[in-house]
Amino acid sequence: MPDPIQVLAVSKLSPLWSPQLRATYHVHERLHETDAAAFAQVAPQIRAIAASGDSKVPAELIARLPALEIISVMGVGYDGVDALAAKARGVPVTHTPDVLNDDVADLALGLMLCAARQLPAADRFVREGRWPQGAMPLATKMSGARLGIVGMGRIGQSIAQRAAAFGMVIAYTARSAKPDLPYRYLPDARALAAESDFLVLITPGGALTRKLVNAEVLSALGKGAGQGILVNVARGSVVDEAALIDALERGVIAGAALDVFESEPQVPERLRALPQVVLAPHIGSATAATRQAMADLAQGNLAAHFAGQPLLTPVPEWRSR
Ligand code: NAP
Repeated sequence: MPDPIQVLAVSKLSPLWSPQLRATYHVHERLHETDAAAFAQVAPQIRAIAASGDSKVPAELIARLPALEIISVMGVGYDGVDALAAKARGVPVTHTPDVLNDDVADLALGLMLCAARQLPAADRFVREGRWPQGAMPLATKMSGARLGIVGMGRIGQSIAQRAAAFGMVIAYTARSAKPDLPYRYLPDARALAAESDFLVLITPGGALTRKLVNAEVLSALGKGAGQGILVNVARGSVVDEAALIDALERGVIAGAALDVFESEPQVPERLRALPQVVLAPHIGSATAATRQAMADLAQGNLAAHFAGQPLLTPVPEWRSR
């Protein structure tokens, strides 16, 4: 029997991936963080990295692994992986696109409804016995409202399809217009926000989208009248969180629903104190069925690589060689 292939898991592995990964490979879970001496010993033999969507794989780590052949990410976002440094070393990065589109889009619509109709507040209202004292304040209508989507890729289009069933008027921004789609394109997030009642963010994270939504964009969403609901299912880094808290506290926008934050799992106390904000702990793809599909695809990419087969889902940087 040949020695098993050695894999470094750079974060705590999903329980849906871990058993199949360990059954096939010799897995070192977070050894680079937990035991420097042991890591230095095995580093020359590591041939693969197993990562999740929030893992960090910087150029320095890649440089310490001379035998590295592939980085497989269980997640569609890979902004923590230095994909260009990997490419420069000839190391492909793979991710898990498409299999999570439905779940993330479902959550986006759920968050929109929660923020518009104040569902978490309604639940608290009933539980806390406040109903007998009178009705809740009136909420915001979602059907027929104007939806702006920042990022019209795989998930953005799934969100648009669902929003169309609510009779929403859909517009979007992205790096480029998509002439085949039946939605209006606007050149940037500020212009889009100015014409939206709901602004949903679904771009990648990373340097190119950092603080794309800033005070100016939030002010455009609010229209000087405290309107507009921001929904972020992209990455916390896409929003200037300090500017968002300020805009919410001052009533510049009406509300927000957030699945992602700047310093997860830490959520600022000021944000948690705001009743017009709906909060979720980064659960966009967190259903059992979808996480299993993601784990299977992440494992499938490793299997394809070590069998000398074409990769199933390499990231765009690798495809564009
Ligand atoms: P995708 O198909 O690559 O779509 C990304 C979209 O963002 C594209 O339309 C792209 O524009 C646009 N975009 C990229 N950079 C931009 C910029 N600087 N300004 C404006 N638009 C920009 O990716 P996807 O599969 O839909 O996933 C999108 C992201 O969702 C992931 O990268 C991840 O960060 C996030 N996500 C979050 C969760 C969660 O749990 N909350 C789960 C899954 C994914 P072009 O089309 O013009 O290239």
